[in-house]
Amino acid sequence: MSVQQQEIRSPFSARPMLVFWETTKACLLACRHCRATSQPSALPGQLSTEEGLQLLRRIRAFGDPPPVVVLTGGDLILRDDIFELIGEAARLGLHVAAAPAATPLLDEAMLQRLKDAGVQSISLSLDAPREVHDSIRGVPGTYDLTLAATRAALRVGLKVQINTVVMRSTAETLPDIASLLISEGVPIWEVFFLIVTGRAGGSDALSPAEHDDVCHFLLDASRYDVLVRTVEAPFVRRVLRERERGQFGEALHQRLSSRLETLAGPPPGPVRMGTRGTLDGDGIIFIAHDGAISPGGFLPLELGSVRQDDIVSVYREHPLLQQIRRRDLHGRCGECDYRAICGGSRARAFASFGDPFAPDPACPLGVGYDAQ
Ligand code: SF4
Repeated sequence: MSVQQQEIRSPFSARPMLVFWETTKACLLACRHCRATSQPSALPGQLSTEEGLQLLRRIRAFGDPPPVVVLTGGDLILRDDIFELIGEAARLGLHVAAAPAATPLLDEAMLQRLKDAGVQSISLSLDAPREVHDSIRGVPGTYDLTLAATRAALRVGLKVQINTVVMRSTAETLPDIASLLISEGVPIWEVFFLIVTGRAGGSDALSPAEHDDVCHFLLDASRYDVLVRTVEAPFVRRVLRERERGQFGEALHQRLSSRLETLAGPPPGPVRMGTRGTLDGDGIIFIAHDGAISPGGFLPLELGSVRQDDIVSVYREHPLLQQIRRRDLHGRCGECDYRAICGGSRARAFASFGDPFAPDPACPLGVGYDAQ
């Protein structure tokens, strides 16, 4: 049977693992790579409290196990009704994760309030050491605020995830961030591979070979006491398979991994990486501030609106999502032996070629595609 004929069935066809809800566009930061191109105040059209409550009830209708609801923004704590929304999500039995911005509003009292309202986990962004991080985030002092919020969140008993964007200006300091998280006791590190969209500039993207080197480094980092996840880099699972056959990275990989060993000592355990990840539309669905439904926050294709459409039906039945889930892809990703466990970033394919089924240009196997 050829690769094209193999039927691929997603474990996420009935329900997503993660539902991202952009609760507001309002945010006091102005990050260079911001997907949401956030504003100082909410934009017109934001879902009302009643619409938000109804959305949470429909998310619960996905059944068991319920998806994790990730409340993003903008900065969710700028919504006046955020505690009412969190309380309803918790009452419904949803796992609530919050992704607030690191501003002076996010002090220990606020983190305790979020936890008391029903938030179980929190993600904060830390891209690089102080100077580079603050320049990326657009506000001096953000690095220190993030570190203080991380420590306070751990103290109040929230599960903490640190998000880091990989791009040219942050790649060389990834070991410094990894070592910081290990020493602070942060349990989860989510590493996002840049999609050139929003405020992100194309010159900050790494080459495909460098992306593979970073994947190798992250596999090495997973051997320490921090759970490493990637976002928009599903090809990490292809890199893992290649490694099992004795293929390793090149100069950037060697440099990053040896720096981590210098900072954190020899890796104490084996590589840890799940066998099947999520893709936009395959385990993930995104709801924008105005209710627009799309496969992911970086794949801005409108599939409907929660104001008129049922999120459960859209996720399960929309032809575009079904096509992503069965990996009916174009070019190299469509012929690839790894497409069941990888499938390439659909957001990067769309950003590069205007086609959500095109190959992922960040993967060395996916380059050379001639969009029709
Ligand atoms: S060609 Fe596509 S499916 Fe294959 S490893 Fe690369 S990104 Fe993944």
